[in-house]
Amino acid sequence: MAGKNWQAGGRDSIPALALVCLLATSASYGLAWAAPPVSGGSAPSSYSGELDPNMIWEMLIGGIVVVSFLAAAGLWVLSALRRVKRSQLRRSAFVSSALNNLSQGVVMTDVRQRIIYCNDRYLEIYGLVRADIPRNMTGPELLEVRRKRGALDVSVDEFYAQAATADGLITELPNGKSVLVKYFRLPNGGSVATHEDCTAQRKLSRKLASTTQFLESVLDNVPVCVAAKNIEDGRYIFANRAFERFSRFSRDHIVGKRADEIFQPETARTIDTADQSALKAPEGYHRSEFEVERGSEKRVLASNRVIARDENNQPEFLIALFDDVTDRRSLSRELESTKKFLELVVDNIPVSLIVERVSDGKYLLANRSAETILNRRREDATGLTAADIFNPREAKLIIARDEAAIKKRGLLTEEHPISTKDGLRLFLTRRMTVLDDAGEPQYLIKTHEDVTDRRQTESRMAHMAYHDGLTDLPNRAAFLQALAQMIEACEGTEEEFAVLCIDLDGLKEVNDVFGHAMGDKVLTEVAQRLQDCARGGVVARLGGDEFGLIIDGKQPSAGIALAEQVAIALAKEFQIDGKPVRAGATTGISVFPHNGSDAAALLANSGAALFRAKAKSRGSISVFEPEMDQQIRDRRVLHQDLSVAIKNGELSLYYQPQAASGPTVATSEVIGFEALARWMHPVRGFVSPGDFIPLAEESGLIVEMGEWILREACREAASWPVPMQIAVNLSPAQFMHGDVVSLVHSILLETGLAPDRLELEITEGVLIEDFDRGLALLRRLKALGVRISMDDFGSGYSSLSYLQAFPFDKIKIDRAFVMHLGRNPQSAAIVRAVIDLGHGLEMSIVAEGVETQEQLSFLSEEGCDAVQGYFIGKPLPIGQYAALVGRNVINGIESTRKTG
Ligand code: C2E
Ligand code: CA
Ligand code: CA
Repeated sequence: MAGKNWQAGGRDSIPALALVCLLATSASYGLAWAAPPVSGGSAPSSYSGELDPNMIWEMLIGGIVVVSFLAAAGLWVLSALRRVKRSQLRRSAFVSSALNNLSQGVVMTDVRQRIIYCNDRYLEIYGLVRADIPRNMTGPELLEVRRKRGALDVSVDEFYAQAATADGLITELPNGKSVLVKYFRLPNGGSVATHEDCTAQRKLSRKLASTTQFLESVLDNVPVCVAAKNIEDGRYIFANRAFERFSRFSRDHIVGKRADEIFQPETARTIDTADQSALKAPEGYHRSEFEVERGSEKRVLASNRVIARDENNQPEFLIALFDDVTDRRSLSRELESTKKFLELVVDNIPVSLIVERVSDGKYLLANRSAETILNRRREDATGLTAADIFNPREAKLIIARDEAAIKKRGLLTEEHPISTKDGLRLFLTRRMTVLDDAGEPQYLIKTHEDVTDRRQTESRMAHMAYHDGLTDLPNRAAFLQALAQMIEACEGTEEEFAVLCIDLDGLKEVNDVFGHAMGDKVLTEVAQRLQDCARGGVVARLGGDEFGLIIDGKQPSAGIALAEQVAIALAKEFQIDGKPVRAGATTGISVFPHNGSDAAALLANSGAALFRAKAKSRGSISVFEPEMDQQIRDRRVLHQDLSVAIKNGELSLYYQPQAASGPTVATSEVIGFEALARWMHPVRGFVSPGDFIPLAEESGLIVEMGEWILREACREAASWPVPMQIAVNLSPAQFMHGDVVSLVHSILLETGLAPDRLELEITEGVLIEDFDRGLALLRRLKALGVRISMDDFGSGYSSLSYLQAFPFDKIKIDRAFVMHLGRNPQSAAIVRAVIDLGHGLEMSIVAEGVETQEQLSFLSEEGCDAVQGYFIGKPLPIGQYAALVGRNVINGIESTRKTG
């Protein structure tokens, strides 16, 4: 069998064949030399002629000997040859069988690529039979055969190119097997190819690859950071995606590097310490928690390090698994502190809290406040039942209430007295049942709130709701109730009664001069005096300095008599903290049933009467008359009209000159104008600013109106060829409600008026309402470059402190003082003092309301800086002063300064 593997021209048989040929050749030559040729052919010339018979015999015998010898030699040679061939065959059979028993297929070719050997395994692998490989078939031819039969999946050229590489060629056979072919060229030009069935290996390595891939993908997707490193050199060999994300380095950056090449020194040190601990750990793993730096933040890692050992039990790899637990830690810390916090809260809430287990009625929890009710320390109460704590009678009651709450499965609230070590107290008890998952009552939460104080407070508050806190008199609400009761009592009878509305005069001054504490004492004293006067009648405090009284009897005489009594009582000097304080009363009266059939109307009408009384004079008494009501209604209508006045263009500005004071008008040079608002009502004609400005202030309309006035005045002044001063009045309400600073600023920008030409006239009201705010706004206004003047100086009372608080540019002495100059020596003294005071504070002085030559003379002599008044010029439309502001005189009418 083996001998068949060798194809013709097999290399090892060649020497044997050569030897046989050689011997044959030499034998034939020897015969030719010893005897004449047996067969035809030309004989040598020396043997021609007759032969001797002896010689013939001799020759014959010699020939026989030679032939025998030759035959013997030949036989020997043949047997030797056979022996050689046998041994050769044995050898090749041995080689063949050895090759055949290889698990690999082997194919050999000679220098001409002819196949000289091919083992059985080869045939078996490719499903060939020996007949498929005829003599002299070449390697490529065999490959073609295989290709045709589907036992080669590449071209012949590819086969040789691939198979000759170190990795060899893997061909896949239709039967699913994989064969690894390696092709070697031999030095003699031949070749050997080995064919190895690698199906199992391939499957294994494929499986291994997919398993590795699977494991890697698992590792990549676990939310824990995983990294592995070689223990020998400490270099990372693996890092999963979580590790990449955490470290913010890519895997390529990590793998192959040591920790100190990747991380900050401190972090690398921490990692190293953890690694070392893991290596030393006898269990082969090490858990730890440590901090590392990531960028600028510190993170807490919980790590588990495992050591993987080789077959010799030597540490080979270190696998680090870790998790960023920073948030978890802070969360658990937070949770812990929240729990502590809640415990603290529960323990400290001023409500007693007890939690009871429904199944056995045992107390599970009690807070500090519960100690009062339980009469023991809270820790001593847990585990006990109501029967253990309270006396039988109390316990029975408590258990019954508990059971009622449990039965109700909801909230049960009740208020009842409980005797405590502090005496009998009123408690509000709430019982709340907590159900378990199955909906059965599990716990009972009981809170006991000591409401003793609260109930007291409530009754106190109820009192407060109807009483004035300062004087303890009934308040407006209570007064209205009392009125309603009076009306009810008198309705349908002849009875009448009066409602007195009393305004306390002088309280504002007391507050301003002596402070509010003093004002409060005055009010308390006033309340006392009013009650004395009322002799049991209702007295109420209706508001700040307004009081209400109800008096029955014949009206209005009884009412008026009481009002007079009150006036006398309040006129008496008050001695508060040893200081004499003066006050007074102005009273309005309305009468039931004539001035109203309900409480509100009666009170409103006594208010209207008071309004009239105040307008008349301080300290007067006024009884309601129907036309007063009309006046109030009138005011409302006027207010309505005013709200549309700007839109309807009914507002305008008049300008009154201000002059530097000289002895005469002619020598008093006009330096500027004050803008004064005028309202031309479509029906009523001119309405005085003294009427509509307070109305606008009350309603807040002044903010819009003031804006219009300021813009109009600045726009006008900016158009004057002569850059005269322009003074504009600002109302306190504009400071309170509008953004006056931005307004002035934007109007200056808008109109282009130089800030130093604008003068803002303000009254003390700005500072009285809210001193700090007023002052701050004035400072900011001044910072804009405008000037601020104090208007109506002397008409109020605490002006001096305001002059000190803010560096006004100008003081305008109120008309009231100027008016009496020459008639009243005190006025002269006051004016003189104000001029000196102002100059001392480096403020210039303007006198208002100058109407006569005498007043002018006096003021100019006293060094008053400027004057304003009808004597200099009346408030008029600016057209009337065109010449003064440098405008062309229209229609030849020259402007006059003293007319108007
Ligand atoms: P005020 O700011 O003190 O204005 C001066 C007032 O005195 C003006 O009254 C003016 O016509 C009047 N007056 C001027 N010279 C004399 C005189 O020689 N004799 C007399 N008897 N009166 C003189 P008016 O225009 O009726 O304004 C009254 C008040 O209305 C002003 O007093 C001011 O407080 C307020 N007011 C006027 N216009 C405005 C305004 O545009 N804005 C604001 N907020 N208030 C204004
Ligand atoms: Ca003014
Ligand atoms: Ca004034």
